[in-house]
Amino acid sequence: MKYNDTIQAVKGIGEKTAKLFAKLGVYTIGDLCEYFPRGYDKCALPVPIAQAAEGELLAIEGSVYGLAEIKKIRNLNLLSCTIKDPTGQIRITWFNQPYLKNTLKPGIRYIFRGKVVRKGGSLTMDQPKIYRQEEYRKLLNHLTPIYSLTEGLTNNAISKAAAQALGELEFPEEQIPKRILKEYGLIRRETAIREIHFPKSMDTVYDARKRLVFDEFFRFTLRLSRLKEEKQARITSCRMVYDASLDRMIENLPFQLTGAQKRVWQEIRTDMEGAFGMNRLIQGDVGSGKTILAVLALCLAAKNGYQGCIMVPTEVLAMQHYESIGRLLEQEGLKTVLLTGSMTAAAKKKVYAEIASHEADIIVGTHALIQETVQYDRLGLVVTDEQHRFGVKQRLSLSKKGEEPHVLVMSATPIPRTLAIILYGDLDISLVNELPADRLPIKNCVVDTTYRPKAYRFIENQVALGHQAYIICPMVEESELIEAENVIEYTEKVREALPGTVTVEYLHGKMRPKEKNTIMERFAAGEIQVLVSTTVVEVGVNVPNATVMMIENAERFGLAQLHQLRGRVGRGKAQSYCIMVSGNAGKDTMERLSIMNKSNDGFFIAGEDLKLRGPGDFFGIRQSGDMEFKLADIYNDAQVLKDANEAAKSLTPEERDELLKQDTAGEISETAL
Ligand code: ADP
Ligand code: MG
Repeated sequence: MKYNDTIQAVKGIGEKTAKLFAKLGVYTIGDLCEYFPRGYDKCALPVPIAQAAEGELLAIEGSVYGLAEIKKIRNLNLLSCTIKDPTGQIRITWFNQPYLKNTLKPGIRYIFRGKVVRKGGSLTMDQPKIYRQEEYRKLLNHLTPIYSLTEGLTNNAISKAAAQALGELEFPEEQIPKRILKEYGLIRRETAIREIHFPKSMDTVYDARKRLVFDEFFRFTLRLSRLKEEKQARITSCRMVYDASLDRMIENLPFQLTGAQKRVWQEIRTDMEGAFGMNRLIQGDVGSGKTILAVLALCLAAKNGYQGCIMVPTEVLAMQHYESIGRLLEQEGLKTVLLTGSMTAAAKKKVYAEIASHEADIIVGTHALIQETVQYDRLGLVVTDEQHRFGVKQRLSLSKKGEEPHVLVMSATPIPRTLAIILYGDLDISLVNELPADRLPIKNCVVDTTYRPKAYRFIENQVALGHQAYIICPMVEESELIEAENVIEYTEKVREALPGTVTVEYLHGKMRPKEKNTIMERFAAGEIQVLVSTTVVEVGVNVPNATVMMIENAERFGLAQLHQLRGRVGRGKAQSYCIMVSGNAGKDTMERLSIMNKSNDGFFIAGEDLKLRGPGDFFGIRQSGDMEFKLADIYNDAQVLKDANEAAKSLTPEERDELLKQDTAGEISETAL
């Protein structure tokens, strides 16, 4: 049997079963070998019935007491009996397996293994498996693989097929050079695959997993480096010519570009005017002025007769970008349109037409931009803002909308190098490591709830000076409807605490996009002075006149979110303030908040976050995690990732070519990454 043989090479698997396996993505023997269990089940010694505890999966040993009975409840066929051992008795039930009645012979001892549940006041074992003593003894302390299933295919069927395949398979030769295996303490791949399905002990599972995770990362890194090289070598079909009107546009901006912005703009220009396409990530802290760089790039594309689009993670942000970007580009005689999921079908249809006919030069939108229905015309540049909120896949599907357009992605989230390899490995990186010169560092304070009246006074004073404030509402944990009620109620309190002349409005996730936009527009226009909100204002929103960010329940947020929230102020010339109200003063909370108090620097905070929490949920990136590794976890296996990356770099060019040649499964396609 060979790795590439179809699954039907396994005895007993015919066309019908093969179809079921196909549902699991298993077509070949190799796929089957790489269909790893998601856990293991270990059969332990039977427990005395008196000790069977609710909720546990366990085995008991005893004989059937009296006769098994069958009841029909609607179309359920219920078989039940009582099992006794010297310590007690328990009811057992099976659904729709009436034939078991004949299997269970009175007086004979069986082992029953199943979950103990409470039914009508007494304990019952539900749907247990039945074993003869000698049969169970063989299973004792064995780790049995547990696979993800699909209807019609039992765990047993998969495990049997895997066992048979592993028994008859001629394993392909080891691909990774021996010296690498030795250096990183890796077992052979063949052994690893055998062990991951049918491990001798948890220790061997550990080694097997390490090897297989290594392989996944190793292959990933290799493909990525190939992809990057290919991209870099690809002559772009959208080579741009610089347009002098851009100089004028830069001159007419209400501010001077910072040194960092100028440098990055040069990098973008060099890419876009060069023979090879742009694949660039702009990393810059909140408020560092990334948007204008995107606008310039979009403008350059449009001046060259190409369409450009920018994708953002929320409707609120899309609307805002649409307005501010649209205003700037209108002066250049360019038309910007908005496309979001919440638009009416008619409005969407109109925009689709404007895009297809190239009436629209620039398209601002949410995920809606990657929908099938959108047909672009000469798409030359795709920008993704707040990239960490999207997955790599979404970024790639956006660029698939054109013929290899230039790609620009922007993120405020500094990420550790190891993760950058995975998330941005195919991109060049530009840093906007300088804030506009007119910015004053935000002043922070951490207070408890008794400080509220003072905070409201403070906000009142800022409003009197012509400024605006955000208040992030205290949170409730129940349903989202309650979230809305809660915001409304809290807003009332704020209204009472402030003079009647101050306009206080609220924003929450359950509002219709249109309502949200109206509120945001009025806030941006200065008609609303105090905006009470849930975290919907968290990403990207830009109202430079706002100077106070008051965060209730600050203890409930992670550092990343706090930093993003705080980033909504300090976006203009005026001194800004961040008031973090903490409902509890536990040690961890205080530690976290004191980091925020100490620093406004996103990179520093990210580093501290990593130290405090470990890479587990680092800066919310996991939410966008669409990295399809079978076993590997980019956070928990960060060390293996580092090893694999290092190992891949240590390959000689011949070794690398050889490995890439063998790596047929991945093709060269980007989606295969
Ligand atoms: P972010 O990097 O968080 O996306 P934005 O691009 O939204 O930041 O910029 C924040 C604010 O700073 C905006 O109001 C923008 O107009 C302004 N801004 C951008 N660049 C400069 C600059 N060089 N000098 C002064 N203000 C700037
Ligand atoms: Mg931004």
